[in-house]
Amino acid sequence: MDILKTKPEMQEWSKNKKKESKTICFVPTMGYLHQGHISLMEKGKPLCDSLVLSIFVNPTQFGPNEDLDSYPSDIENDLALAKKAGVTAVFLPNKQNIYPENYQTEISLQYLPNFLCGKSRPVHFAGVATVVTKLFNIVMPDVAVFGQKDYQQLQVIRQLTLDLDFNIKIVAGDIIREKDGLAMSSRNAYLSKSQRTSALSLSKSLRLAGKLIARGEKNPVAIRNEIETFIQSFPETNIEYISFCNPATLEDIDNIENQVLLAIAVKLGKTRLIDNALIDPSQ
Ligand code: AMP
Repeated sequence: MDILKTKPEMQEWSKNKKKESKTICFVPTMGYLHQGHISLMEKGKPLCDSLVLSIFVNPTQFGPNEDLDSYPSDIENDLALAKKAGVTAVFLPNKQNIYPENYQTEISLQYLPNFLCGKSRPVHFAGVATVVTKLFNIVMPDVAVFGQKDYQQLQVIRQLTLDLDFNIKIVAGDIIREKDGLAMSSRNAYLSKSQRTSALSLSKSLRLAGKLIARGEKNPVAIRNEIETFIQSFPETNIEYISFCNPATLEDIDNIENQVLLAIAVKLGKTRLIDNALIDPSQ
């Protein structure tokens, strides 16, 4: 497994692969890898000749009061997991490398960031769009895999790939969960024992909504009220949003007729957790 620490090294590596007519699949991450990340690598591995993983905690996608400084990291363990998953090369740039002095350009989208997480994280999606654009230019992949866990991010990336004419196939990976249903996240490491129990309120709410919709409930307000009461019955939970929206545009819907995205964000102490499900009333 090759380890590439600078932009020129990574670009050179990718150019050589292209010269050899080898295709590249790319999985960008912020590290502290878990089974959710591994599942993206497993999904991407058979799609191309080589598999590139990047680990970069992107500062521009964190707001001033967010967890940039405390974001968990364990590079040694990450590299061991990457090797086991069959990664061909790991791109491990530092901040200076990605954003050198006098760096000025930002990529921002007009509509998708106005919903869900974008409302409370105003700089987040411009940071994501900018770093992903840069990583696409550096790694030059044919395919890139992103998790549905960050559904809004996935939509942002699909849109920017289209808008900026990247010739890259975007593949979505299913949400990987702990046995009890909690969606895996590097941020779960922050949770205390009692918060870990309360964190189950997110995945349980998604199931509750699924049952109500299967029973014929079509009114998102009624379901939202039930979920709200349910989540609030768990200690330390602070609901940021519960949103029933159009899976493509992320706009709120007022009647559940077709497939709907239910997206939830809840704060447990300082830790912000998100989860979502696509729910189809006909199934
Ligand atoms: P992160 O390191 O949190 O920036 O995530 C890197 C990639 O892993 C993103 O595409 C995420 O959507 C994806 N990811 C994170 N958690 C999960 C999960 N539980 N299941 C599937 N994909 C995930």
